[in-house]
Amino acid sequence: MTGGFEPKFLICTECNEEFVFTVAAQEYFAERGYTEDPKRCKTCHTKYKKALRDQKHNHVIDHPQYEFPE
Ligand SMILES: [Zn+2]
Repeated sequence: MTGGFEPKFLICTECNEEFVFTVAAQEYFAERGYTEDPKRCKTCHTKYKKALRDQKHNHVIDHPQYEFPE
């Protein structure tokens, strides 16, 4: 038994492409207590996460903890 999950076909809110919410991904979500289906396909989700990381990165540059030698 896989826990009763079945692959779901969802539409990405970012690129409007159909993507599969896999059983593994559903188990991952369930383990973390997420009850909502993902809104983005994997490609857009990766871009979204990267954008968040870049924002953080810029934040770090704004407040450097050390300086590079000239
Ligand atoms: Zn997408």
